[in-house]
This record gives sequence, C-alpha cells and structure tokens, in this order.
Amino acid sequence: MLKAGGAAVAAVAISGSDAFGSQGTLSGALDGSKTTSPKTIMVIGAHPDDPETGCGGTMIRLAKAGHNVLSVYFTRGERGIPGTGLDDSARIRTAEAEKACKILGVKPIFMSQIDGDTRITPEAYKEMKAIIEEYKPDVVFAHWPIDSHRDHRNCSSLVFDVWQNSENPFELYYFEVCTGIQTMHFFPTDFVDISEVEKQKKEACFCHVSQEPESWYDKEHERMELFRGMQSDVEYAESFVKFHKSKAKGSVLDI
Ligand SMILES: [Zn+2]
Repeated sequence: MLKAGGAAVAAVAISGSDAFGSQGTLSGALDGSKTTSPKTIMVIGAHPDDPETGCGGTMIRLAKAGHNVLSVYFTRGERGIPGTGLDDSARIRTAEAEKACKILGVKPIFMSQIDGDTRITPEAYKEMKAIIEEYKPDVVFAHWPIDSHRDHRNCSSLVFDVWQNSENPFELYYFEVCTGIQTMHFFPTDFVDISEVEKQKKEACFCHVSQEPESWYDKEHERMELFRGMQSDVEYAESFVKFHKSKAKGSVLDI
C-alpha cells in the first residue's frame, strides 16, 4: 500500500495503525520478503477475467508476500463467446482462467451461476455463504456494486450479504473493472503500486484469448492503471474502496 502525495488520497491512505501493518505481517513485502502471518484472501469476480483485470497486480503481490490468494469465479463466462454454446464457452473460459491463475500464483475456484443469467435467490445466498465459510477468508475483494453489468451487481450484492450476516466478518474491499464503462461512481480509498508486476498481470489477462484482450485491454484497463498511478505517484496502480465498517483490522493492502 502506498501513501500517495495528493492530499485527498493521503487522507485515506492506509495508516500505520492498521492491524496488518502494525503487526508487520506485510511490511517488507516490497523487498521480496515473505509474511510470517499468511492470510486467506478471496477475490470474487462475476466472470473469468474480472478478478485478473481488477485485482491482478495486487493478487500477484499478495501471493508473492506469502498469502493464500483465491480467485473465485461466480460464473464460467458461459455467454462470453459469441456463436459458441454455453457448455463449450464455459470449458474454454475455465481453462483460460486456470492458466491466468497459474501466472498470478493463485488458486481458481468456480461457482455455479450462469453468465448473463445470474440471480439473487435463496439458493444463491446459500452458495455464496457456503463458499466464504468454507475458506474463511480474512479479506475479500468484491465488485463495486454500481456497475453497468448485472452479473457484477448481483455478485457484489451476495458478497455484501455474507459480510452483513457474518458473526466474524472479513475485511471487505471493492475493486473496479473498466471504470466509466462498467464500474461507475468509484472514488478509491486505497491504492496499490503494481508497476513491478504490471507485465505479469497483463500476461495473465491475455490468457483470456476468447475475450480478445488485444482489442480492449490497453484502452480500458491499462489506461485505468496509468490514471490510478498518476493519482498515487507511481507508474501503474490498482485502486480500491475499503468498506469503512469492515472491521478496524487495518489493511492487507499495506504491502
Ligand atoms: Zn465481468
């Protein structure tokens, strides 16, 4: 986590009073040292490529620091390949996500909803609760809820419901994807410098060949990373909104 120079950013940047920081669990990660207190971190995205594009650099850095990072896919991207059936698309996109996760150094987990037809039902609440309770994450990264994509909104809402009803809630952050096109009205509280891992992140995102990343990655995600970098005085950054009621545990982003 970096403390940016701008007053507005500095005001909300991670402070030394954070539990992760004060315990020193992540301090030193920048020079390649490993944490002595590994945490379980879940990034929950609606489609294959959402965790990677929104959080890929941060996932790489957290995994390198020794944390157990899980990339959770709400759907397998069943409707993401025009002209290809749901099952074939799911198979292709699952393989792409698995390849991307290898590059990120994280573990993929797939849920059972269908791309383009995600639903908030009693069963959906149960499935999200079950998967979060199974892995007991210390930290969860979720889609920002104001988003043009219904699947992103539904996924985000289910994660928040688990947080809201948990007796021992996890630290909750929101990530952005294709800001201005999908994520909207997103004003970050936290920034992570991904300059040193940006190429590795891009390589992971480009595993999603079926999504033709060459046609959108640079003008959407790379531009976003450069802009967040400008806001935080580094070359490339990812940014997040920390849910302020999300336990006073500090920040896992203090890397
Ligand atoms: Zn998506």
